[in-house]
Amino acid sequence: MPAAHISEKPRDSRILISIIVPVFNEDEAVAPFVEHLMPHIPADEVDYEIVFINDGSRDGTLAALRQLQSGNRHVRIIDLTRNFGKEAAMSAGLDNARGDAVIVIDVDLQEPPELIGPMIARWREGFDVVYGQRVSRQSDGFLKRFTAGGFYKMFNRLSHSKIPADVGDFRLMDRRVVEALKLMPERVRFMKGLFAWVGFKSVAIEFERRQRHAGSTKFNYWRLWNFALDGITSFSTVPLRIWTYFGLAIASVSFLYGIFIVGRTIVSGIDMPGYASLLAAVLFLGGVQLIGLGVLGEYLGRVYMEVKRRPVYLQSEIIEAPQSDADEQRS
Ligand code: UDP
Ligand code: MG
Repeated sequence: MPAAHISEKPRDSRILISIIVPVFNEDEAVAPFVEHLMPHIPADEVDYEIVFINDGSRDGTLAALRQLQSGNRHVRIIDLTRNFGKEAAMSAGLDNARGDAVIVIDVDLQEPPELIGPMIARWREGFDVVYGQRVSRQSDGFLKRFTAGGFYKMFNRLSHSKIPADVGDFRLMDRRVVEALKLMPERVRFMKGLFAWVGFKSVAIEFERRQRHAGSTKFNYWRLWNFALDGITSFSTVPLRIWTYFGLAIASVSFLYGIFIVGRTIVSGIDMPGYASLLAAVLFLGGVQLIGLGVLGEYLGRVYMEVKRRPVYLQSEIIEAPQSDADEQRS
């Protein structure tokens, strides 16, 4: 890695931009996506590849992608063996991207391709990461906004690497950032956290998040909840450690209460009320212990998944466009 980063990137048509698009059951969305995308790529300034990662779609997505590819030499398809989830699909895209800069974008046009030109321009100015930041979340319902807001607040409080507010996966990253991300050995890949963790010179570009133009969201609340757990457990051990302090607090209070009871018994003799308080204390402590055990379990389960060192994803095939001259140009 050069010590002094050359900030201005040359205007060279040999610069390759990789556009990474994870897709899962999106047969209606892929064709309109490419149609909208193409006019916004500054093709006179850069060469580009559109890397679709078919994340185990069970509908006609793969056929739709092949259809697209027959008329577009820029399209590459990474076909995964099953659905591994968006995080894994993005990792597959980053691993396979050949570009000097990489742009991650969803296929549903909620993130405007109009920003690709400005993102490349900021990158040329010397920024390593140009991330999209939503100015409003009006396209999301109240519950989604509320839970997402709560999650990011909590995450940033618990984790050392902070995720900027209202920032998703939509971003441009320099090759150096991609290589840094590839160094991350973990299986549970909470990409937003990893993006924040690697650092680099970053800048935001604001955008209005739109409605999905076709298909439907792949994330229900149960999936989002588990995603949130992955995120927090990947980037913080605070939930594990609070139990020590919780236990200390309860033990101290119990100790003082014990002294009080002994004292009172000595002074005013034995009395036998207290069934309710006894039961409340037992149940409360039982509950607290189970929660603590549950948190331990969350981490232990993840440690188990990590030590197995299974691959993050498996790809069955990389389908290149017929007369792909992208390789020839660059080799
Ligand atoms: N996606 C994926 N694998 C999955 C779920 C989603 O590759 O298991 C893709 C999906 O096709 C889309 C992007 O991830 O291109 C974002 O998904 P979606 O629009 O459903 O998420 P939302 O915008 O509702 O958060
Ligand atoms: Mg979407």
